[in-house]
Amino acid sequence: MKNTSPLLTRYVQDAASLLNNGNTLLKTLALPTRVLKKTISFHAKNGEQRVKAYRIQHNDILGPYKGGIRFHPGVSEDELTTLAFLMTIKCAVVGIPFGGAKGGVAIDPKLLSKEELEELSRAYVRAFHQYLGPDKDVPAPDVNTNEQIMGWMLSEYEELTGHPAPAAFTGKPVAIGGSKGRDRATGAGGAMVVEALVKKRGKNPRDLKVAVQGFGNVGYHVAQELHVRGFRIVALSDSKGGIAINNNRDSLDIEEVSRCKQEKGYLAGCYCVGGVCDLRYGRKISNEELLELDVDILIPAALEDVIHEKNADRVKAPVIVELANNPITSEADEILNSKKKVVVPDVLANAGGVTVSYFEWLQNRQGSSWEEKEVMEKLEKKMQEAFEEVWNISREKTTSLRTAGYFAALKKLNNPHLLKDQQKNLLYP
Ligand code: NAD
Repeated sequence: MKNTSPLLTRYVQDAASLLNNGNTLLKTLALPTRVLKKTISFHAKNGEQRVKAYRIQHNDILGPYKGGIRFHPGVSEDELTTLAFLMTIKCAVVGIPFGGAKGGVAIDPKLLSKEELEELSRAYVRAFHQYLGPDKDVPAPDVNTNEQIMGWMLSEYEELTGHPAPAAFTGKPVAIGGSKGRDRATGAGGAMVVEALVKKRGKNPRDLKVAVQGFGNVGYHVAQELHVRGFRIVALSDSKGGIAINNNRDSLDIEEVSRCKQEKGYLAGCYCVGGVCDLRYGRKISNEELLELDVDILIPAALEDVIHEKNADRVKAPVIVELANNPITSEADEILNSKKKVVVPDVLANAGGVTVSYFEWLQNRQGSSWEEKEVMEKLEKKMQEAFEEVWNISREKTTSLRTAGYFAALKKLNNPHLLKDQQKNLLYP
């Protein structure tokens, strides 16, 4: 099929070429099912404020639409459509019964008071509530939105529909039906995938040096989870730069680094200055240097496009695990492939978050509340199964883990009944 849709990237086309009858599916995936856009208004300090709001529902072959809502001045229909498409693929890779969606409002929420933020959140739900709901479309937090905002949105939704519906939004506070363990889920899921890969390669975590770019929700948790599993975390960074370990020490202590970051406000403040050492054995590095360190595993966990055509050649790590969304450009991906690097794609590596969102939805539907240990055990099972499937496809088809991941997703999207039957037992045990 001729690629006329920006959604049908090389990754999708490569995977579809391995699939029988892939063309019909590609036609379906090439466009979102529904593009909802409205100008919404809310009460602000200086009177009525009007902003552009979107909900893009890409595909619901496998189940209700699922995806975050972001508040950011750069929000656009194109960006949200790409992200909604990625959600369709990600949910299919990990085998959860959801489709893909993404929403957003083009606004800088940092300029709003708490009251204005609540007004905006409620206005968003008033604009789109007919299209949302536990069986239709289930939003979650994304850039600049959080559990408090999900709580306001759910409250507005329940007021409008006149009945309780906790499963209409995920990423809520635990007190109103949020899942335990959601905050660490993406990082923990990434660590589970790294561990599964390392087992396949017959390596011992204690011999492996890891560098993580980004020390926010995902970066902190993946570093911490890998540290607990015995990996040597030798470098970390945030937007202001990073630190790397000195003197062949074993590993940075992630809790110690986190405390230091909280105190100083940024990671690069946590290194030895003259005789005064916050971490005793750290040295300062730039974000660019971190990507080029001689480590065994590199984990970009901050921004998109950080590994590109100009620096891909200098990446020394043999394994790169994409915890951020799209941290490697498609040109850089080709360079890394040609150098036989193993890249674990975002659609698998960072799917732990949406998987625990699914667990939240499931708990709400079942009227149950799982302990964090149970959530993590179930997450580990899902991530290991997904990894195993993608790994096996990559061996059988002699292809990259990325193409294998997309192929695993397309296969399920091409035959949705398989997954739906499998899930019925979970929902109605
Ligand atoms: P966050 O805002 O909590 O943290 C982002 C981190 O990146 C911060 O430490 C920030 O200082 C750092 N950063 C910003 N600019 C940087 C730069 N130029 N160089 C290095 N570091 C920089 O965000 P998050 O929730 O941790 O998300 C990180 C990435 O993971 C994003 O790509 C996001 O889309 C993706 N992701 C997040 C989740 C989730 O559950 N939070 C799920 C899937 C994917």
